[in-house]
Amino acid sequence: MKNSKSETLNSKQVQNSKSKNQNPLFRFIGILVIVICLGFSASDFGFNHAYAANAQKEYDGIWFLGFNLHKDLFSDNNSTSVKKALNLAINRPFICNKIISDPLIPTGVIPAGMPGYDSALKGYPFDLKYAKELMKAAGYSLNDPRIKNINLLHTDGKKTIEIAKAIEKNLAQIGIKLTRVQFSYQDNQKWSDALSSGQYHMFLMGYKANVIGTVFVGDKDTKFFHLPSCTQLPSSDNQIMFNTYAEAVATGYAACPVCNPEIEEEETDTFSLLQPLFHSAGSANFTFYRNAKVDTLFDQIAANPDLPGDQKTANFKEINSIIQSDPPTVNLFYITKL
Ligand SMILES: [Zn+2]
Repeated sequence: MKNSKSETLNSKQVQNSKSKNQNPLFRFIGILVIVICLGFSASDFGFNHAYAANAQKEYDGIWFLGFNLHKDLFSDNNSTSVKKALNLAINRPFICNKIISDPLIPTGVIPAGMPGYDSALKGYPFDLKYAKELMKAAGYSLNDPRIKNINLLHTDGKKTIEIAKAIEKNLAQIGIKLTRVQFSYQDNQKWSDALSSGQYHMFLMGYKANVIGTVFVGDKDTKFFHLPSCTQLPSSDNQIMFNTYAEAVATGYAACPVCNPEIEEEETDTFSLLQPLFHSAGSANFTFYRNAKVDTLFDQIAANPDLPGDQKTANFKEINSIIQSDPPTVNLFYITKL
């Protein structure tokens, strides 16, 4: 079942630390930036039908078609209609059901179950007729030479290629002739250079959020582990850091009886999923999406570590809705949490 997922990921880790104003306890947000290239075989995404049918599935990422908003097709006056037309023309029910084997079709950029997910948000249906109307309204007839040489960047995973071909077929029906440009998912450097080059009209990629947790400080002498706020912390020479409670226990350390660290509650962090993709300065913003209101909503969260959860959720919902109204992506499916 385990299919060495790490081999199919390009990942880099960024550690952010934030101090709480009234609480000396430091919460560390490890933001795992993962660009997932579908190089998977039958057991993609760590689930199979047998247990997927019974278990409540959890999601922590999105897999999408991104538009390069620097290209005329996606930046001129009528580009919102074009972006919507592509969302309508791509047969996502086919991709979700037949290729990914998960019937849940994304309605926005926040996966079901994550903070800010909006069950009331309507996704784009598969509607070729409406897609054609929107293209026509945007000034693109089926024979328009401006849409006959549009390229799509993707990696060479088996399922990725299947998805790319399905998209190619769908877009042909609204007059867009795609040229697929394929890179090896093992060649991380070339792939990320191509993504950031701005050369391609569209690309396929996946992105996953990280979880927020507390960091624990182990004492190499006593083999106790502490909250960072404990009065019994060892000198820095004798410290060993653990990212989770379970990791500390597995390493042979016991919970300190003074500060009494508890198993942390995990939260899949919506911020770490969306900010890199959709903030104008985001580290994985390969669509070159830029929206002042969206930036402000992200910055508000980043600048206020003590912002109440419901305020954050409200910000995420608003971001989701703004992105949906002029979409820089077609959200193809949500990635199952492993
Ligand atoms: Zn302690």
